[in-house]
Amino acid sequence: MIDVSILGATGIVGQRFVQLLNNHPQFRVVALFASSKRKGEKYKDTVNWRIEGDIPESAKNIKLKALDDEVPTRVVFSALPSQIAFDIEDKLSKKGHFVFSNASSHRYDAFVPIIVPEVNPTHFVATKYQNRKGFIITNPNCSTAGLVIPLKAIKDQFGIEKVLVVTMQAISGAGFPGVPALSIYDNLIPHIEKEEEKLQLETRKILGNFADKFISANFDIESRCNRVAVRDGHTEVAFIKTKEKVTIQQIKDALAHFTALPQKYNLHTAPKNPIILKEEVNRPQPLLDRNNGKGMSVTVGNIKQSKMFTVTLTLTFHNTIRGAAGGSILNAEFLYREGNLNV
Ligand code: NAP
Repeated sequence: MIDVSILGATGIVGQRFVQLLNNHPQFRVVALFASSKRKGEKYKDTVNWRIEGDIPESAKNIKLKALDDEVPTRVVFSALPSQIAFDIEDKLSKKGHFVFSNASSHRYDAFVPIIVPEVNPTHFVATKYQNRKGFIITNPNCSTAGLVIPLKAIKDQFGIEKVLVVTMQAISGAGFPGVPALSIYDNLIPHIEKEEEKLQLETRKILGNFADKFISANFDIESRCNRVAVRDGHTEVAFIKTKEKVTIQQIKDALAHFTALPQKYNLHTAPKNPIILKEEVNRPQPLLDRNNGKGMSVTVGNIKQSKMFTVTLTLTFHNTIRGAAGGSILNAEFLYREGNLNV
């Protein structure tokens, strides 16, 4: 067992970490961190538990630490706001900690990879160039995490020339307390701060290559991001123009049969099927499909030929599992399985 700490453990993503790491076969949570106002309080007495199920027994009585306390484990999962994450993740990784971060603060650094292990596991090598005793590995912004998996399946077989994507993102993506109820109830907000830029940059970085430096994938991508009155589960409509001529059936086959190393290794958090296809015309839906593959599968449906592009499809996935804590834990499991998490 490897002992781990969670930074930002009281937030929405932090709570998912606590939940998903309970009874984990490789990782044991020994320390939880939040802001200094909670220092010394038991997790159960201070956390505003906002996700389904109960607080795991193993976490209830852990006394919260603050960021001025020593981090007692080599492996650290970070669910901090990006402005707080920047300095502490840098400091910890320089001291020798292995930081798995959900924050955006280091995602665009020259040698920090943004990893989805089904898509770009070879990018882990970038950490060797970081000039730190430990490393920082990030997972993508939630809207990117689910998109890149079907794009990878299509790009590998047919190439991609351009992508247009419109997102409908869940409220939990904004953390807690997040968007005020009076702004989002019965409503849609057609703007999420910096989200469109993040989605475009990150998608191209993840689907690109690493050869001494990151070389972004050379397709065009445009996005429009919306916050919608859904609790959990992001939905996105993507229009994709492939390089090769391809039929809709070939696209469906590529998506349905997509599998990768996390599945081959049978990793604890890896879904059996990274992509689940739905043939019903009214699927996927976040309420029905966000928990597919224990929240780690991307459900794709409504696949149609496009006159202006090649194909259009709708995808749904769980933003705080595949799009955050689950993705981060899968990264750590992958490194552990490949013998690269030496604690
Ligand atoms: P959140 O609900 O606002 O939680 C933030 C956490 O950080 C809380 O535990 C909070 O502790 C802690 N924190 C805040 N200020 C701090 C400080 N000065 N010192 C120490 N701890 C501090 O946010 P979230 O949605 O969980 O997001 C966490 C990170 O993941 C963000 O960088 C976000 O962009 C990223 N992310 C989120 C999602 C998602 O779907 N929500 C998806 C992908 C990535 P207190 O409770 O004590 O204030």
